[in-house]
Amino acid sequence: MFKALVVDKDEESGKTSAAVREIGPQDLPHAEVTVAVEYSTVNYKDGLCIGPGGGLVRKYPHVPGIDFAGTVEESSDDRYKPGDKVVLTGWRVGEARWGGYAQKARVKADWLVPLPEGLDTRAAMAVGTAGLTAMLAVLALEDHGLEPGHGPVLVTGAAGGVGSVATAILARLGHEVAAVTGRPEQEEYLRGLGATQIVPREDLSEVTRKPLESELWAGCVDAVAGAMLGRVLKQMKYGTSVAAIGLAGGAAIEGALITPFILRGVNLLGIDSVMQPYDNRVRAWQRIARDLPMDKLETMVQPATLSDLPHLGRDILEGQVKGRVVVDVNA
Ligand code: NDP
Repeated sequence: MFKALVVDKDEESGKTSAAVREIGPQDLPHAEVTVAVEYSTVNYKDGLCIGPGGGLVRKYPHVPGIDFAGTVEESSDDRYKPGDKVVLTGWRVGEARWGGYAQKARVKADWLVPLPEGLDTRAAMAVGTAGLTAMLAVLALEDHGLEPGHGPVLVTGAAGGVGSVATAILARLGHEVAAVTGRPEQEEYLRGLGATQIVPREDLSEVTRKPLESELWAGCVDAVAGAMLGRVLKQMKYGTSVAAIGLAGGAAIEGALITPFILRGVNLLGIDSVMQPYDNRVRAWQRIARDLPMDKLETMVQPATLSDLPHLGRDILEGQVKGRVVVDVNA
């Protein structure tokens, strides 16, 4: 038997509840690789799945945890053998399928990535889905021509998980980073990650119908969407790109007009970490191992255990989590 955070639903009231329980290997789904999980993390989607699911969870009881890192225990696939260190993000694990909030997980071999050299399982989860997404966003901006020296790169939702890692990676690569935050008390933290400019959230929160504004940003990693993305698009320099990764501030792009795309050739790049092909995931993890300053990563980490998850799930939905929560499932 082993421990797991199990979310269950009362069919009569429709209410869900989350608690740490003992489950057995027979409860795990059928798949090729059984992993002894060491660490998982708390992401926005985990917050949804720890609660009523937000349409992501298909079936109860459910084990959330959209990413994990650990050691292969059993494998019927030639690519993995017992003792291999692996990391998993995406593929609807922790949403439609049981995830990493358990001491064991069973998944398809195709969804795993061997742990890159230079990262241990804890560091891999300090990065986690949020960090992988941040790296995918930076790679997309680079593929569209972003280089250091082009001007400040804006990061929205900067004190959150994706924003923190994006700030640290961009600064390490030599970019000037302008960090947008609604939490002025996080200024020191963000400057510590390498931000050179702090932009208060309210400066970019107003919806305007102006077709364009002054050209300010050489690139943007946007975790927020809503009114902020509408404003940011109008402030992008000619021919630059916004990598849109999330919608913490709303599912629409409010107040945006077509003008930034037509008159400034701005690109809006959608980044999805969930269904990334194997080669892209390996490339991104290798760049993370190379370009993410590990001392900065440590300043982002808040440690947690399985029993902390019910309240952390609520905190992340309210935008109250700073940086990355790393869950030691064996603590
Ligand atoms: P976090 O909650 O850690 O960070 C989001 C940050 O956005 C907050 O910390 C806050 O930053 C800011 N924010 C929150 N609410 C608002 C608001 N109403 N208006 C403006 N800013 C706000 O989440 P993550 O960083 O893990 O994820 C961010 C988004 O990205 C989520 O929507 C998530 O679902 C999505 N995501 C997408 C992925 C993909 O593959 N595309 C992968 C991972 C996440 P501050 O306090 O600094 O203002």
